[in-house]
Formats: sequence, C-alpha cells, structure tokens
Amino acid sequence: MMMLAAKRHAELVEQIRKLDQAYYEEAQPLVSDQEYDRLYRELLDLEEAHPQFRTPDSPSQRVGGSPLAHFTTVAHAIPMQSLENTFSASGLEAFVDRIQKSLEGEKLAFVVEPKIDGVAVSIRYEKGKFVQGLTRGDGEKGDDITANLRTIKNLPLEIKNKAEVLEVRGEVYYPSAAFEKLNRQREAAGEATFANPRNAAAGTLKQLDSRLVAKRPLAIVLYGPGELRGVNCTTQEEWLKLIENAGLPVPKQVWFCKSKTELFKAIQELDLIRGKFAYDTDGAVVKLNEWRLRNAIGTTPKAPRWAIAYKYPPEQIVTILKGMTPQVGRTGAITPVAELDPVRLAGTTVSRATLHNFEEIMRKDIRPTDHVTIEKAGEIIPAIVNAVIEARTGNETIIELQKACPVCGTEPIRDGIFLRCPNPSCPAQTRRRLEHFAQRGAMDIDGMGESLVGQLVDADLVKDPADLYHLTLEQLAGLERMAEKSAQNVLDGIEDSKKADLWRLIFGLGILHVGAGAARALATHFGSLDKLESATEEQLCAVRDIGGVVAKSIIAWFANEENREMVRRLRQAGLNMKSLQAPIRIGGTLLAGKTFVLTGTLSEPREDVKERIIAAGGKVASSVSKKTDYVVTGENAGSKLADAQKLGITILNEKQLAELAES
Ligand code: NAD
Repeated sequence: MMMLAAKRHAELVEQIRKLDQAYYEEAQPLVSDQEYDRLYRELLDLEEAHPQFRTPDSPSQRVGGSPLAHFTTVAHAIPMQSLENTFSASGLEAFVDRIQKSLEGEKLAFVVEPKIDGVAVSIRYEKGKFVQGLTRGDGEKGDDITANLRTIKNLPLEIKNKAEVLEVRGEVYYPSAAFEKLNRQREAAGEATFANPRNAAAGTLKQLDSRLVAKRPLAIVLYGPGELRGVNCTTQEEWLKLIENAGLPVPKQVWFCKSKTELFKAIQELDLIRGKFAYDTDGAVVKLNEWRLRNAIGTTPKAPRWAIAYKYPPEQIVTILKGMTPQVGRTGAITPVAELDPVRLAGTTVSRATLHNFEEIMRKDIRPTDHVTIEKAGEIIPAIVNAVIEARTGNETIIELQKACPVCGTEPIRDGIFLRCPNPSCPAQTRRRLEHFAQRGAMDIDGMGESLVGQLVDADLVKDPADLYHLTLEQLAGLERMAEKSAQNVLDGIEDSKKADLWRLIFGLGILHVGAGAARALATHFGSLDKLESATEEQLCAVRDIGGVVAKSIIAWFANEENREMVRRLRQAGLNMKSLQAPIRIGGTLLAGKTFVLTGTLSEPREDVKERIIAAGGKVASSVSKKTDYVVTGENAGSKLADAQKLGITILNEKQLAELAES
C-alpha cells in the first residue's frame, strides 16, 4: 500500500513539475487549470496521509516556476508567496476557525479582494521613482523585467508617495477585450495562440525586446505590500488607500468583513460583478486585515497562513449536441467540431465547441444527440466536459471513426491521436495550404484571401503555391466578380511577394510544426533555402527552438519529391531564397557561450539581432551584470552603457559584433 502511495507520489511530483515549467516558464500550459488543480489536490492528500513524502522540494512546498535564463535574476527583499486555495464554503469556514483559534480573544476583520488571474510582479519605488520590477520566479528570486514593465501604460513611473522604499505587488494582465484580437493575429501568423489572457500576459512579459512588449496593451493592478521603508501603515484597508492615493491602480472593489456571513455575502457579490472587470478573475482572496495579527500567525514555506483564495468553479452549462462536423486542416488532420444548440455561457452565445480529436470523443464517450456539459475555463472556444449520461434515452449510437475524408473521400490514417487524410491533393488541404502560403503573416499576397483561393482551386487553375506565379491576367479576370483592375492588383501582389524575406517563404511552405517563430530562426541560422534543404537532423537540432520532432518533420518535407519539385518551380519563378539579414557565422567560437546585452537603437530590430546571437551560440540578457561578456550599443545608448563602463565590460558596436562573429 505504502509502496503504491510512494510510487504515485513520485509520479505526481514529476508530472506537476513538468506542468509548472510549461505554465510558468513557457507560458504554454499543457492541461487545463482544473486538471492541474485536481492533480495538485491529489498530491496534497497523499502528503497529508504520508507526511514523510512532504520533502522541501515537493511542489507543495515551493512557489511557481524558476527564473528564466535570459533575464538577470534578483533576490526578493521579502519572498513572494503563493496562496492557499479552497474550492468550498466549508474550506473557507475552516480557515476562519483556524485563525480564530490561534488568535484567541482577538476580534477579526477580513478584506475580500478579487483574485486576479494575471502574472504576479513586484514593483519597487524609491523616493517615489520606479526603480525595479521583478517576476515572482521561485518566490525567493525573480527575473528583472523592469524594461518591460516600464511599457505598461497604467503603471506610473513616479508616484506621489516619496517613501524611501515602497514595494508593491500585484498582477500584470492582458485586458480581456484585446485578447481575442491578439489570438486572431497570432493565428494568421501561424503562431501558437495563447490559451487564455493570463498566458498572453506571461508570454508577453517574457519577451526580451521591450519594444515588442510596448506594442501589446498590458495593464497592471496592485494590491499587496513588499519591502517598505518609511511607510506608515498597519492594515490592508489603509494600505489599499495609501497606494491608491499614491496614484497606483488598485482593484475596483474590495469588501471589509467582520463575520463569516459577511464573507460569504462579499464572495457572492464579487461573483456577480467580476464578469465586467477588464481582467479575468478566478476567485476571491480573503485576507486578515490587521498586519500585526498577520505577523502573529506567520506563513508556511509556500503561502501565508493569514490569507486564502476561494476559487469559483468554472462556469458550465448543459446543451444538446446537434452534430459533429469534421474539418480538414492544412496538414490533413480531420478534427471534429461540435455543433450545439446555442446557449449563453460566460457572457457569449455559444453554438460550437472544440473536440480536439477523435480520440477525445471516444475517451469521453460522446454520442451524437447527447446532452453535453460545456465549459469555458479561460479559453475562448468552450470545450465539452462530458456527456450527461442520465439524459440518454438508450437510442444513442456510438460515433464511428470517419471512414473517408469528408472532402476527397480518401480513407484516413491514424496518426497518434489524430486522424489524417493522407491525400496531399485533397482539395481541402490544397485550399488551406494556399491560404496559409498567401496570408499576411507569411508571403503576404495582397488580395489572395479565402474566397479567391477557393475560386482558383475550384477552377483548377492552382494546385500548389508555385502555380500562383504562373497565373495570367486573363485567367484571373475570367473569374467571377473579378474586374480587370482587381485582377491586375492581384498579379502585382503576387509579383511583390517574390521579394519576401526567406523566413516568410519557409513559414509559407507549411511544413508540419514549423510556425513563424521557427521559420525565422531557421532562416537566420541557415541564410538560404538551399542550406536548409540539405541540413541534417543534427544541424537542424542545433537551431534555437528546433527540437527532434520539428527537425524530422523538415527532413521528411524536403525528402518528398513533389515538395522538392515545387521548391524548384518557386526558384525558377524568381522567388527570393536568401535571408535578407546579415549573416552571423553559425557556431562562431567567439560568440558561443558568451552573454550579450543590447542597448540603444540598433540598425535592425533588436529581436533579430538577438536571434542571430543565439543562433551563433551566444546568450542575450536584459541587463548588465558581472556575468555580461559584451555590451552591444546602438544609437542613444543609455544607462546600460554606463553600467558596462563601470564594470569594465567590453563594448561593441554592430560592426564589431559582426566582425567578432566572423572571426
Ligand atoms: P494561484 O494563482 O492559485 O494563487 C496565488 C497567486 O494569486 C498569488 O501569488 C498572486 O500572484 C495572485 N493573486 C491574484 N490576486 C490576488 C490578490 N488580490 N491578493 C493576493 N494574491 C493575489 O497560485 P499560483 O501558485 O500562482 O498558481 C497555482 C495555480 O495556477 C493553480 O491552482 C492552477 O490553477 C494554475 N496552474 C496551472 C497549470 C496548468 O498546467 N494549467 C500549471 C501550474 C499552475
């Protein structure tokens, strides 16, 4: 029994560590928060039953992720902790009773605040000036993301309170209203979409180039104290007023409660209005108001004993599954989309839901005409949680695996959890491939949208991207609703696209697993399509962000005779096949393992220079420290240049950087 428990505990620790890393460090969660919370609860229960499993390195004893390698790591003056969670009213009551027991005779008061589902940061003001901003990291030390935080419009760089040190903690969030737009743009660019606004905020704050961060509408809300010197304050109530008066953004509404009844009322009231906030909330945080009492009961290694998060259940609703429409994607994957009887859920009308793959339908045993529970847990498109078994009549039929591609009729093949149409000439795939090639984020061909691509494929004028470059004015003008002038514009757009940078072409080819980011890295690394075409798996794996799966997929793509033929025709049509960026020699021994800091305005986007340094084996940090090997300066270099001079670090201009790489 004990052996089994120990084995399960070890499994959970390993799994949760992996999930934490994906969530905190890569901003790409692998499972839903509900699934994570379930595993975490199982871990806590096991440790409750077998306290010897609760070692200091268990995820139950540690906060969040680790600081990221690219930023400078800074120790927090006061640790940044997590919160204990409860999902039930009885859990909240037990929390109040526990505190009352350890603070016998004290009259307790609590503050209820929204639990903002953002990225925790600590903001430091000295004498009223914003001097440093850190992520929570592992709670003891975080990443210095000052430059990124400076771009947040509602974070004042100077506040009215001029205390010697005023550290304030809160959450950076991606406003819900702007989030859908961001995902649409990313989708068009072939980049992975973010699962929810929290991940979008985390992914944005991880960027090394603060100019990219400035383009995203991040915002912040602050609620907690960090290190304080010269600040006079004794309760949470006073603190929130103090920071608001200093000019800092605070939660829109908080509640002061003196009894359990008042607490439950506040939690209910918050639930009713939280849908209108600009940020997502996943619960209510209940905190002891008086700081003196907080100090008296203290903290565990992971969370304060004087606060708890009451998590709201994700909103769910039951509706009827009216049908499942199989859709065929660019790579032939046939994914089922659930058509639902429309219902209102979390503020929007929902009529479709994702069923990510056929295996999911089998696993959840979802049958056509079932009543299904759907849920929106931060994601835009809701998911089907389960079928309501009690609502079945007994006449339901088990859904059969698709026996033929819904578009071309070819028999699909099983590819892991996916079903794929193996026919590369399937019209659905041809259309998706052409749309992908021509889209804004790839070759950016003006006028070549979904409907024109559809017409071209239907008229049998185009079968692959290379055919686009042989279209004539007559052919285009002969299409329905196409005047000669528009036809000429389309031809001009096609002509213009021949000059596109190499990464756009690589991305546009639609190689499985190669998104825009990977395409950029490949273009920078290899410099030409020829070199990419002849690269070995080992050489591909040496490129930043390219792992074995992607490398294999690239090799398989170029090994296909039809693909090679298409590339040959694209070359013949006169497309640019070289990276337009100056090359930095790959594996340049002088760059390998060295840490660079970039400052000032460079002659090309900082992200590109960074990418090339990394491709050449170097690292790029955001601020200067003793560990920095080189500081690369552009125009108007500021304090980082001064820091480099102070520390005696070698300073390079862009030309010297290129020389160093070539040496
Ligand atoms: P948490 O998000 O449950 O709560 C703690 C954090 O809440 C604090 O650190 C603080 O940053 C924040 N917070 C927001 N509003 C606050 C307020 N008013 N007062 C105080 N703090 C406030 O804990 P966590 O450690 O950040 O993350 C754990 C949770 O993250 C899990 O329960 C899970 O939902 C999610 N998670 C999901 C995955 C996944 O794979 N899906 C992986 C890891 C974590």
